[in-house]
Amino acid sequence: MNTKNFEVIIIGGSYAGLSAALSLGRAIRKVLVIDNGKPCNRHTPHSHNFLTQDGRTPATIAEIGKEQVMQYPTVQFMDAWVTEIKKEKEQFIISTSDHQNLTAKKILFATGVKDLMPAIESFDDCWGISAIHCPYCHGYEYKGQKTGLLSNGDIAFEFSQLLHNWTDQLTIFTNGPSTITATQADQLALKNIFIIEKKITKFQHLKGYIQSMKFSDGSTFQLDAIYAKLPFEQHSLIPEKLGCEVNVQGYIQIDEFQRSSIPGIYAAGDNTTSMRSVASAVAAGTKAGAFINHDLISGN
Ligand SMILES: Cc1cc2nc3c(=O)[nH]c(=O)nc-3n(C[C@H](O)[C@H](O)[C@H](O)COP(=O)(O)OP(=O)(O)OC[C@H]3O[C@@H](n4cnc5c(N)ncnc54)[C@H](O)[C@@H]3O)c2cc1C
Repeated sequence: MNTKNFEVIIIGGSYAGLSAALSLGRAIRKVLVIDNGKPCNRHTPHSHNFLTQDGRTPATIAEIGKEQVMQYPTVQFMDAWVTEIKKEKEQFIISTSDHQNLTAKKILFATGVKDLMPAIESFDDCWGISAIHCPYCHGYEYKGQKTGLLSNGDIAFEFSQLLHNWTDQLTIFTNGPSTITATQADQLALKNIFIIEKKITKFQHLKGYIQSMKFSDGSTFQLDAIYAKLPFEQHSLIPEKLGCEVNVQGYIQIDEFQRSSIPGIYAAGDNTTSMRSVASAVAAGTKAGAFINHDLISGN
């Protein structure tokens, strides 16, 4: 089987990966972007808070990006899943789901993260539509409306105060015993934010737009939207297998130039930071592209 050689292979062709490919294409680098088309925001009907693209669908933003990147003749795109990467001397050997053999001098992981859905019936049907992660992305559309926060403890306490900026009709659902302290609960009550500890069994919704939540005791609570702080895992486990350091929060550890702890491997986008936004991913990808090019020139 023929092996195809590249200077840089980017794994993940969403906002961070495409943005890096743009910088590298403009630096006349031989680049391959490999992506299997599962960005984390694919469930959301409209993406907000990215200048010039506010309100567009996530897919449209990515399509425009891809179209612009593919105008650079040294950039190629492959629809595939990267299954394995090995480091041999000064190069990386990349294997894909469609049995391609590829090599690269540098690797960029722009692979994002996977949100782990709670065990509540129909929660996943509402995810990205009325069950949302970020007020800057979707809070404006639900401003002043009856809103929930599915969270607990210090995180729920801090986050609810932020959300209060968008709505004064906010209730915290701890989905079991609350770990919010009595002092915190008193502070929240002053803002009319109350805590419900009942176990949630189901989201009742119309095409992803939540109508109400149902509890294990059979009672219901009417809502227009609910924020959720979900646990996550890395979308690709290959960086860790290659020895890239992952920090306690679960993000790939990078330096200020997007370099991982393993020479020749870089990371950008959601897989490195809790500051999840299209704008941040694009910015990180641009930086990664520039510093990969810098390191290729300097022989680092
Ligand atoms: C529900 C939801 C709604 C959001 N709404 C907004 C919003 O309105 N505005 C905003 O600014 N931000 C929003 N965000 C955040 C934003 O979507 C992310 O910050 C952004 O998508 C991160 O880009 P990324 O390129 O790092 O990762 P992703 O967009 O997640 O893309 C990662 C890509 O890598 C691919 N991949 C992973 N592993 C492999 C592999 N082994 N082989 C091949 N391909 C692989 C995946 O298939 C995917 O295409 C939202 C997030 C969510 C979850």
